[in-house]
Amino acid sequence: MTGSTKYIFVTGGVTSSLGKGIISASLAKLLQARGFTVTIQKLDPYINVDPGTLNPYEHGECFVTEDGAETDLDLGHYERFLDVPTSKANNVTTGRIYQNVISKERRGEYLGKTVQVIPHITDEIKAHIQALGRKGIYDFVITEVGGTVGDIESLPYVEAIRQLKWQKGKDCLTIHLTLLPFLSTTGELKTKPTQHSVKELLSLGVQPDVLVCRTEHPMQKGMKEKIALFCNVDAQAVIESRDADTIYDVPLMMQAEGLDQVVLQKLAITGYPEVDLTKWKDFLRRYKEPKSEVHIALVGKYVELKDAYKSIKEALEHAGAENETKVHIKWVHSEKVTPKNVARHLGGSSGILVAPGFGHRGIEGKIEAIKFARENKIPFLGICLGMQCAVIEFARNVIGYTDANSTEMDADTKHPVIGMMEDQKLVENKGGTMRLGAYSCKLSEGSLARKTYGRKDISERHRHRYEFNNTYQKAFEKAGMLATGINPQAKLVEIVEVKDHPWFIGVQFHPEYRSTVAKPHPLFVHFVAAAMKQGATPIVRVEESAEKL
Ligand code: GLN
Repeated sequence: MTGSTKYIFVTGGVTSSLGKGIISASLAKLLQARGFTVTIQKLDPYINVDPGTLNPYEHGECFVTEDGAETDLDLGHYERFLDVPTSKANNVTTGRIYQNVISKERRGEYLGKTVQVIPHITDEIKAHIQALGRKGIYDFVITEVGGTVGDIESLPYVEAIRQLKWQKGKDCLTIHLTLLPFLSTTGELKTKPTQHSVKELLSLGVQPDVLVCRTEHPMQKGMKEKIALFCNVDAQAVIESRDADTIYDVPLMMQAEGLDQVVLQKLAITGYPEVDLTKWKDFLRRYKEPKSEVHIALVGKYVELKDAYKSIKEALEHAGAENETKVHIKWVHSEKVTPKNVARHLGGSSGILVAPGFGHRGIEGKIEAIKFARENKIPFLGICLGMQCAVIEFARNVIGYTDANSTEMDADTKHPVIGMMEDQKLVENKGGTMRLGAYSCKLSEGSLARKTYGRKDISERHRHRYEFNNTYQKAFEKAGMLATGINPQAKLVEIVEVKDHPWFIGVQFHPEYRSTVAKPHPLFVHFVAAAMKQGATPIVRVEESAEKL
């Protein structure tokens, strides 16, 4: 696109959790499918500098970017939808904004001025929004503001949007996402909360250009016109967003509602090509019409909160579609797994995935699950702490170091098969100090990892402080656990495999962050394929079976 970068703001009203991230990613997908370059940014109104220090119970998964930023899980959706990596600049929190402003104040950069929310905090927010646009590579920067309009925390962000809209005029557009609650007693959808939410936004000086209304039921006739009249928007700019079977349906639903066309028209962009979602539709077809089904156990300690393993869940879905199989995930709480009940928990699963994590809670259950996978030759994928547990399990039950452990769990173990990385020993602060982001890894000739990736050199994203203790490498190799992926610079073990097992891989990195709809991750694709070999059940469609009769 010739001309200046366009800025699209996405705000939320009525309640949280309406799916601003998915709407933003879907709009971005539609614009990308018309040939535009798009990036999406999330502004989070909390005071943490980043979500890296947040407990997953608070905020779900922490997503890690290529450049090592610990970010909001919505960035995972952005990458999975667009297949374009995000970076540190794509997630900004109030904590970071204030940290920057206070550092500037300490450096004397405000030249004696009183530092205030307006203009200093709002200037900093605007600078972060425009930083992505200034790169000169994006036609569109979509900025999603976390929280709900009216929250005290989000006020500076809405004010920054008001100022940018005023300064940039036609290059900006605001989409407001609201809820139409359904009253079952009268069988009606109600528009009043939407009207109030828009009033709230108007009281802050922002007129939304487009309203996206989340609803469980189809909007009734005349409802769009009614909302349009009360909220000063065009009726065609009132978009219905029905609950979807899968988040991957949303771009098509938004296309059918004309969201991208309204946006382009309002930004006065003309002469654009048609949407090409051929590949996306192909993915959806494979996803929705699986030829078989397979059961995979995901063993972790946050299983009550599925958002804690968002990227892993999505990566398994991508891999399922790639293999044309339906992956049923059995969420197994690691604290509940014991030697006695492990078969009951995992017996019916054709693949076992042990999840990442921190601290010792649930660790023994993970180790038990790995023993079960190893001994019963069930395909196994261990991620980060899951890989470290696989190393501990092997040390205890195969090599015979019965007290083997990670120094994270037992600082005094006689066999610290997993230990803290040297440079981590000097670290005092918790935030942003792990081994983070993309690191390269070399795969050994003839290994399962090499076969899985189909190449020798890979790069994957990390988030950890502990690592395989290289002094034990020989002992492990002799007993049948091989280090098949090594970081060439630091010689850190990034992948382990067990010989004489159909499919057993532990990875120190997080492959789930790299799996997208366009490129399902090879480790997940091959893990699911191995599970299918172990035990997939064919799905016979009614039409097909009827034909055969
Ligand atoms: N707690 C482990 C470490 O810090 C594993 C981290 C993880 O699973 N992301 O090394």
